[in-house]
Amino acid sequence: MRNLVLFGPPGAGKGTQSEFLVKHYNLVHLSTGDVFRFNIKGGTELGKLAQSYMNKGELVPDEVTISMLEQEVEKRPDAKGFIFDGFPRTTAQAVALDKFLEARGVSIESMLALEVEVEELKKRLLARAETSGRADDADPSVIQNRIDVYNAETAPVANFYKTAGKFKSINGLGSKEDVTGRLVAAIG
Ligand code: AMP
Repeated sequence: MRNLVLFGPPGAGKGTQSEFLVKHYNLVHLSTGDVFRFNIKGGTELGKLAQSYMNKGELVPDEVTISMLEQEVEKRPDAKGFIFDGFPRTTAQAVALDKFLEARGVSIESMLALEVEVEELKKRLLARAETSGRADDADPSVIQNRIDVYNAETAPVANFYKTAGKFKSINGLGSKEDVTGRLVAAIG
């Protein structure tokens, strides 16, 4: 089983690159942000709860996010592996994911971290707002908060995978194809 974490700040290209990688490696794409948005559309209790955090650019609490992620993995017993996109976003989530996978006799193969400088991220998110319909992409103060939350709570997750010898840094600038090529080379 090939389980990959696609990591990086908001706007780094995780969703875009996942589209190619899931096809190329025959994996299941699991984006916690997408699952939350699906629940918001469906008006579920989880959606209502998640929306109150997402609107502000805050993280949805760990207990809620971890149990949702585990349920999504369990829905796909036939998966050849997963691309985790937007998860783990805290060290507690990374620890929970490790335990959850270990109990199933599998593990994370590597964390691929897309590196993009902050001014470029802001530009990309505002451009994406034109088509994504995402309120959290359209408001510069929410974008700033997402980046601040990333730096404070999410960036340290890289250390967890560095310690495990699983961290790979990828230059996220350039064309979509350029970045894909770097990812494929890093995955091996
Ligand atoms: P994304 O689609 O990855 O940009 O995520 C959009 C929003 O969903 C984030 O700003 C958070 O509010 C929430 N979210 C997504 N993934 C997580 C996670 N792993 N932990 C907590 N909140 C999350």
